[in-house]
Amino acid sequence: MKRLHQPDIAENTNWDLIIIGGGATGLGTALDAASRGLKTLLVEQSDYAKGTSSRSTKLVHGGVRYLAQGDIGLVRHALKERGLLQQNANHLVNKEEFLIPCYDWFSVAKYLTGLTLYDWLAGKYSFGKSKYFSKKETLAMMPGIKAEGLKGSIRYYDGKFDDARLAINIAQTAIEKGASLLNYTKVTALLKNGETVTGIETEDAITGTVAKYIGKVVINATGVFVDDILKMNNPNSKKMVRPSQGVHVVLDKSFLNSESALMIPKTSDGRVLFAVPWHEHLLVGTTDTPLDEHNLEPRALKEEVDFIMGTAASYFNRKPLEKDILSVFSGLRPLAAPTNGEGNSTKEISRDHKLIVSTKGLITITGGKWTTYRRMAEETVNLAITHAGLEPKACVTKNLSIHGSQAIKGDHYLDIYGSDRSKIEALIVQNPSLGVKLIPNFPYTEAEVLWFARNEMAETVEDILSRRFRILFIDAQTAKDMAPKVASILAKELSADENWEQNQIETFNKLADGYIYQATNKITDTALAH
Ligand SMILES: Cc1cc2nc3c(=O)[nH]c(=O)nc-3n(C[C@H](O)[C@H](O)[C@H](O)COP(=O)(O)OP(=O)(O)OC[C@H]3O[C@@H](n4cnc5c(N)ncnc54)[C@H](O)[C@@H]3O)c2cc1C
Repeated sequence: MKRLHQPDIAENTNWDLIIIGGGATGLGTALDAASRGLKTLLVEQSDYAKGTSSRSTKLVHGGVRYLAQGDIGLVRHALKERGLLQQNANHLVNKEEFLIPCYDWFSVAKYLTGLTLYDWLAGKYSFGKSKYFSKKETLAMMPGIKAEGLKGSIRYYDGKFDDARLAINIAQTAIEKGASLLNYTKVTALLKNGETVTGIETEDAITGTVAKYIGKVVINATGVFVDDILKMNNPNSKKMVRPSQGVHVVLDKSFLNSESALMIPKTSDGRVLFAVPWHEHLLVGTTDTPLDEHNLEPRALKEEVDFIMGTAASYFNRKPLEKDILSVFSGLRPLAAPTNGEGNSTKEISRDHKLIVSTKGLITITGGKWTTYRRMAEETVNLAITHAGLEPKACVTKNLSIHGSQAIKGDHYLDIYGSDRSKIEALIVQNPSLGVKLIPNFPYTEAEVLWFARNEMAETVEDILSRRFRILFIDAQTAKDMAPKVASILAKELSADENWEQNQIETFNKLADGYIYQATNKITDTALAH
């Protein structure tokens, strides 16, 4: 099999850092290390952000929920990172207005006090003041919520983003700073000299090529897969991670009919639930289900979808039905596994990250949030420098622009590409047929597909429909409808034959069926943790 992007990386380089995992954590670490001038290699077994990093609630946030749990330090750090991320990737991170509907006056007082503290903790990184709105004002802002018994709402601000697109742009920035990145490259073994980890052995998932890479320190940033890597070092190593599944459903945005997001502060299981306008649709979630197993394509359990739909129904005017679900997707939180006394419920396990050295040459970073990826990366590279005796250099990512970021931001749909928008438009000027829509009702064009293949390291139809366009996550049936056209464009670009094209369509259709609720309905609960 051929690749669209032939990696050209010398096996005999002595890398300063080798990073395993191309999600938020690994990519952030690659960017941090490369921007300090360290010789950096990152390998990802699939596409960038294929794991948890494309399956978040899309919030760049301090975590209102953690404030309620009294975790002030975590909230303060995250609010600062929220501000830095908006500054450095302003084409992808937007300020969003959230409304908490209140059905009694005690809630009005409680949430206004809590959110005023949230604003205050943000300090100079504040996104705007929280405020009470009357019932009439609330319904004018969000006509889709239940009016009966409503006393008003509290408005607060947080950030919203496109997670997978940010991952791609961070990968591009890391490359621009000198890092080498390999997608579809799986680590199959750690190289060791006695007890010291000295590198990795990999297999290319597309071509099957096996390679070895030597480095001064290996960083395990594989999310819910960290224990698999730790076992390559020591088969008896203790579990660091406990996966917790979070599910989202996507509905038509007419359910809330609002530009603001809804925050339900206390669900029947004591969690929060969000309904966030995203890519002209409404993203509703999430759940927190402890699992014993992990894989790259986790599937929603029926009870999780029922929980989300039932909670939404008690706040929405119009009850959403199963047939209204346009897409359903799941992600696995790499929560740090409980140590003695931390309890067994995932709600109690720390959302903060953990950084450990298991043996000379192997550092593992896990947990945390997308919002805090930069700070986690900074700590990881600081530790790598001292641990491996690398030349000490200060972190420079606080004010480092992410690829695409630009001062002026518009509201055209192509503005999500930031400074790359003009280059995509130039393709259409050269060849106007590239500007024709791939499918009615969505703005996507052939020019963008070519852009992804040539500039954003996409290799497959799935990479394009899931994580470059986000259509699989927005409307899974439409994604299936688009697959043949995208496969044909990619096949031409790769000079691949009809077999390749057919195979891409079939593989994608099978995957997309898992995002169509009727098709996922039969899932059993065998993976649930006991
Ligand atoms: C439901 C849900 C909602 C969330 N919402 C938010 C939110 O709104 N805001 C927020 O800030 N955070 C949110 N988070 C948290 C955030 O998404 C995660 O903390 C973050 O994405 C974790 O990134 P990661 O890089 O550690 O893991 P991942 O993204 O899973 O990346 C790990 C990567 O390692 C790769 N890998 C594994 N094994 C190997 C191997 N052997 N060789 C090579 N590569 C390998 C995997 O393919 C994967 O791509 C949410 C999480 C979940 C589950």
